[in-house]
Amino acid sequence: MSRLPIYDIELELIRAWGRGHPIVLSAPTGSGKSTQVPQMLLDHGLLGDGRVLVLQPRRLAARMLASRVARERGGEVGAEVGYQIRMENRSGPATRILYLTEGILLRRLVSDPTLQGVSAILFDEFHERHVYGDLTLARAILLRAADRPDLRVAVMSATLDTGPLVDYLSPCESIESCGRVFPVDIRYLDRSWARSPAQSSVWDLAAAAFEAGPGRNPDGDTLVFMPGAYEIRRTVEALRATPSARGLEVLPLHGELPAAAQDAAVAPSSRRKIIVATNIAETSLTIEGVRHVIDSGLARVADFDPHRGINTLHVRKISRAAADQRAGRAGRTAPGECIRLWPEREHRERPMQETPEIHRLDLAEALLTLRCGGVEDLSTFPWLDPPAPKSLERAESVLRDLGALDPKSGRLTDLGRRMQTFPLHPRYARMLLAGAEFDCTHEAALIAALTQGRDILIRNPGKDAEDRRRDALGEPDHSDLALRLRAYSEAARHRFRADPCRDLGIHANTAREVRQWLDYFLRIARAQKLPINELPAPDSAVQRCILVGFIDQLARRLDGGTLRCDVIHRRRGSLDRDSIVRDAPLLVASEIREIQDSRGDVTVRLALATAIEEAWLQDLFPEEFAEDTSVAFDESGKRVVAETRRRFRDLVLARKTGGNPSPDAAAELLADAVLDGRFPLKQWTDAVDQWIHRLNALRRWMPELQLPSLTESDRRFVVAQVCHGCYSAKEIRDRPVWPVLHAWLQPGQQALLDRFAPERLTLPGGKRVKLRYQADGPPHIAARIQDLYPVARSLHVAQNRVRVVIEVLAPNHRPVQVTDDLSGFWTETYPGVKKEMQRRYPRHEWR
Ligand code: ADP
Ligand code: MG
Repeated sequence: MSRLPIYDIELELIRAWGRGHPIVLSAPTGSGKSTQVPQMLLDHGLLGDGRVLVLQPRRLAARMLASRVARERGGEVGAEVGYQIRMENRSGPATRILYLTEGILLRRLVSDPTLQGVSAILFDEFHERHVYGDLTLARAILLRAADRPDLRVAVMSATLDTGPLVDYLSPCESIESCGRVFPVDIRYLDRSWARSPAQSSVWDLAAAAFEAGPGRNPDGDTLVFMPGAYEIRRTVEALRATPSARGLEVLPLHGELPAAAQDAAVAPSSRRKIIVATNIAETSLTIEGVRHVIDSGLARVADFDPHRGINTLHVRKISRAAADQRAGRAGRTAPGECIRLWPEREHRERPMQETPEIHRLDLAEALLTLRCGGVEDLSTFPWLDPPAPKSLERAESVLRDLGALDPKSGRLTDLGRRMQTFPLHPRYARMLLAGAEFDCTHEAALIAALTQGRDILIRNPGKDAEDRRRDALGEPDHSDLALRLRAYSEAARHRFRADPCRDLGIHANTAREVRQWLDYFLRIARAQKLPINELPAPDSAVQRCILVGFIDQLARRLDGGTLRCDVIHRRRGSLDRDSIVRDAPLLVASEIREIQDSRGDVTVRLALATAIEEAWLQDLFPEEFAEDTSVAFDESGKRVVAETRRRFRDLVLARKTGGNPSPDAAAELLADAVLDGRFPLKQWTDAVDQWIHRLNALRRWMPELQLPSLTESDRRFVVAQVCHGCYSAKEIRDRPVWPVLHAWLQPGQQALLDRFAPERLTLPGGKRVKLRYQADGPPHIAARIQDLYPVARSLHVAQNRVRVVIEVLAPNHRPVQVTDDLSGFWTETYPGVKKEMQRRYPRHEWR
């Protein structure tokens, strides 16, 4: 083997290590980061007595790297070099280099917070930006700042774009190696490869591309990227059927294969090879001798599925950066070529980079692990990229709902600690635990499996298939999931063969995937020492298990006639038309779709429903019920009645109306209706408003009288007092108002009001006129010119402190002038208008 490029920077690395800061190491794939750097540290004695942990995003990479390095060192896996992945630990006390997956380390920090015996952590493939990698790095930084300043940290990445990371770790050292790369000729999808590219499957396109490209070129091996195991199997079949692949080895490579098959794909071979791999071969593993790459442009990536409230794997288009990494696999040892199975025009529309998982995924599982590791305050947590506050809130809310955090205080519960030990989304951890409690672990695992991927039942399979399905599955009406449980058993009974499954309207392939998930959940249940029931569990046990796992999606039907529901957390929704759950007033939905309308209101579509009995809620969550009584209008809207509501958390389970509520509460509700104009209060006349203005005005003008004010909010109080003892619009209609107002004042205060802010004013000539008061400013009068002859200048109220505004009216009651001082009027305006007036109103007296 020629000398690997990483050795060019060995000395630089050793020196930097000696200075103690974190190190960011970037070098192209195949340089020797993953296999050589841990060995350098060990061989130069830089690990002391401790071990180095090499963090891998993928289990397959952890296993293969460990076996490669063990072989290079002439040992066995599990001795000096080992690995640890979910449910598999091949390491021992002598292990100095331990490859492990990111989730394993974050979990280990819960039981071993100072990482005893660990000298260094290498974060490999960090450019992939998995949530667990981000969180573990942050925790390593915290650990260095507290109990373990001696813990050494290095971050390794296949891309050179490490700027933000260097800032984040600063002070740190950055080491780059350009490695050796040869040019790669890139070609895009050629329409002539397939009669109809839009309809061709990706495996057929890959086979056609092989015929057109590498198949004609005898040099070097070919690496084909496909999103997952299924597509890989189809591609291997399609390639084996092409003439130009005859005599070649066609080998699959993905995480679900047996170890021997995985090793065979990577091992050198005398024959030319075509390796069909997932994105494991993008940067994690190097396969020697590859000169040709065929890239589907797809990958299975973890994504938050908001409908199911979990993270699932979906096939997605990869970014341009990832496509470039894949192309680079062809140019490691000599110039190569890469064929992309998508058009160039589409390539330009792809995102530059993948979005870090922290911005994509549901964080419930990560959050629970952090909480169990003692991280309480996430606002001060040193995030490389802080997640959106909304996704943290959502994660926390789910954990409260599932009982991992105390619903009220938010403190971690014992149940939460127990759930955290499952390498699963907390929802499924909770369901497996419930399964063990209700003796239906098997069904719990199957339900978890059924909610991972596509629906196992074919929608609208046709009349015949529906009839056969009904005969085979019966007609359960209590749970859409129970129906699918039976469908799965039927599919399994037919050994997942395509024809019998299709006859029953069941997706055979999906059922087969469900079996894999089932095995996976059962393995975890066994590892957790949960009892697994041999006999089928009764329906009600399964329903209760579903209830516990999906308690955050509890809903109550609003009426029998429609599909509308109230959903917990103050949401409104409607049940899927296809649901077989027709009559249950209470249900949980295992799939919900939130749809936001143009006004921003969220409606919810509920699917995969399971009927629930309230007694189960009482039994499982006795402390989370509450009852309160309030007032409401009856259906006619004209009468106030008592309303008693029974709630589970914030979901109203029952409302009972009837009987008179407390007079106080009734009066308040009636007052609201009066104030927003729905109910009239006939006795609330203009004089009442004037009285209030007078009171407020006089209080302003003569504060020494110490009169009470009557503000807008007092007005509501007054109205409520007027309504007190009534329960309907009819009763309040003619209620007297004055007694309440008069009671507002102390004895004697009414007399002060009448004296200083009178309702009427007597003009010097003896004429009585009405004063109009306002919310602010002086009062007004309106008087005819003749009545004002005795008034030389001004009129006053409030002990001569406030001048009255005078509207001077002509005999036809038209205002001639508005003023609070008539002297100017008499000398300037009046002589002018007098002549005109005399002519028009000769019968009036004009002085
Ligand atoms: P990097 O991490 O920088 O991508 P690695 O340390 O994984 O590089 O690999 C360095 C070299 O070691 C590769 O170019 C490859 O030739 C060889 N190699 C690594 N793992 C294996 C393996 N399992 N089988 C054969 N060769 C391997
Ligand atoms: Mg590597």
